[in-house]
Amino acid sequence: MLFNLDILSKEQLQVLSSETDEAQNIVICCHVSPDGDAIGACLGWAEYLKAKGKKPVVIVPDQYPDFLQWLPNTQTIMRYDKHKEEADRLIAAADHIYVMDLNDPKRTEGMQAVLIKSKARKIVMDHHLPLPAVEEFKPLALYAAFPNLCSTCEIVFRIAYQLGEFDDLGQQFAVPIYCGMMTDTGGFTFNSTRPEIFFIVSLLLTKNIDKDKIYRNVFHNFSVTRLRLMGYVMFSKMEYDAARHATFFTLTREDMKRFRFIKGDAEGLVNMPLQIKGLKLSISLREDTERENLIMVSLRSVDNFPCNMMAQEFFNGGGHLNASGGRLYCSIDEAVETTRRAIKAYESKLK
Ligand code: 5GP
Ligand code: MN
Repeated sequence: MLFNLDILSKEQLQVLSSETDEAQNIVICCHVSPDGDAIGACLGWAEYLKAKGKKPVVIVPDQYPDFLQWLPNTQTIMRYDKHKEEADRLIAAADHIYVMDLNDPKRTEGMQAVLIKSKARKIVMDHHLPLPAVEEFKPLALYAAFPNLCSTCEIVFRIAYQLGEFDDLGQQFAVPIYCGMMTDTGGFTFNSTRPEIFFIVSLLLTKNIDKDKIYRNVFHNFSVTRLRLMGYVMFSKMEYDAARHATFFTLTREDMKRFRFIKGDAEGLVNMPLQIKGLKLSISLREDTERENLIMVSLRSVDNFPCNMMAQEFFNGGGHLNASGGRLYCSIDEAVETTRRAIKAYESKLK
């Protein structure tokens, strides 16, 4: 074998196997505003558990983007914000909860209280830098944190593979896992040079998945108004700081109304300015659709620019080196001011 995909230690593998054998009432959950990786990891792990004869329920805090609706089994996903009572009941009755793609209970937003209260044994699988906050999940049976891997989907794959279950898994496993690996690497354009990634992809392709179609389903799935929104933002809204190799743009409720914005329409916009030659940092500031004075911030960078440091310092957030997020509790104009200050403060790292 060219590549050894094993990631869990013997002890961790033993813990996971015995916990999973014992599990009867199972919930799988992920972070708020789930992305392709979060949804893919939930659905992929659910397939693994189903292959083991279990009946897991996937509960997500809120809506996931329209461009993921086509994934197999999304109709089985329960939204916490829509079915709170039933979800609360399932979580309270759960003996095992698998938590995907996060390391801080806060990231589950509305579900946080009920998750913390639950006595279920928690198994966290995540590819962010480990945080002490994860200990708030009690009892924490296993914390599988692999910040060097491209996605939580890669973790789920490697664990299922290490557990020897790959042969019994089919398309319904391979499609969401591929989708999450693809979305968290921007279609294998960043954070994706390790050869293991393509070894995994080749294994996934043996399950007869159509990777080109998965790409189109996710990235070529715009409404015409979404495409026009993109043009509008790049043409009219993006501010370009040539000296500091940085851009930012705002997206207001008015903009969203004009372009008949639906959830997910902002996805990917923040990556676009990185197509500018030499650009190091792109920031997007989006007014929340419901709450006044809440600005959702996204940061993307290339090379060594630390989005996560900037997100922590200026935007009440965090994340990965090259992709982070956060939020500001202020008006859009104040958010613009904060952003200008942030870019100035990091000038030496941007030059
Ligand atoms: P996005 O821009 O897609 O909302 O977020 C990009 C990445 O930043 C996410 O994958 C997530 O890892 C991280 N992130 C977003 N918001 C937060 C936040 O509030 N706190 C932390 N710690 N990470 C965040
Ligand atoms: Mn992820």
